[in-house]
Amino acid sequence: MKVLLVEDDEALASGLTLALDNAGVLVEVAGDGRSADFLVSTERYDAIILDLGLPDGNGTQWLSAWRDRGIELPVLILTARDRWSDKAAGFSAGADDYVTKPFETAEILFRLRALVRRAHGHAHPVIRVGDISLDTHSAQVTRAGMPVTLTAQEFRLLSHLVHAAPRVVSRSELTEHVYDGDAEPDSNVIDVQVSRLRRKLGSHSIETLRGQGYRMIAGAQAR
Ligand code: CA
Repeated sequence: MKVLLVEDDEALASGLTLALDNAGVLVEVAGDGRSADFLVSTERYDAIILDLGLPDGNGTQWLSAWRDRGIELPVLILTARDRWSDKAAGFSAGADDYVTKPFETAEILFRLRALVRRAHGHAHPVIRVGDISLDTHSAQVTRAGMPVTLTAQEFRLLSHLVHAAPRVVSRSELTEHVYDGDAEPDSNVIDVQVSRLRRKLGSHSIETLRGQGYRMIAGAQAR
């Protein structure tokens, strides 16, 4: 999961980035609305965490503009403003969730995971494709009921494929959602990691579609 954090308080931004990173969530930070606006137009994210008091305007104004432009990403407003009228304005602008500071990082995580799951059309916290189950909260993966141990990178990759299933996910989409912006791999790295996942999850768990990308196979059975 990759998240855009729009926050001008640098200490808060770096603290939250670190905490989310420890939970396997990639975070890019924008310190004002204008740079956030540039990033949402040029990069791909799974969700946005949006502060309201930004140096170049109210977060709700930026959010309204993004919704008007058809940007459908889940948006969680994270702000010190706890008045009922602020919340109403946030939701009216197109927010999906609203958390007030001070906050618990764990709560942000729970809400982010639920928002991203919902955005892909999943209600249950455990997503199943064939005999593979992925628990979006505990980050546990099982194959035919047996636990599978994955690296953080492998988990991110699988998580994106499982959320998207049965859709085909292109290499460029995987690259942008699964890898850090500074360390975008060549396609060979993705191939290697998909091969490792296949070894752990069964050779028929992930299909490669030449020139298109990858997809989870729902018919995969334990063997
Ligand atoms: Ca602020």
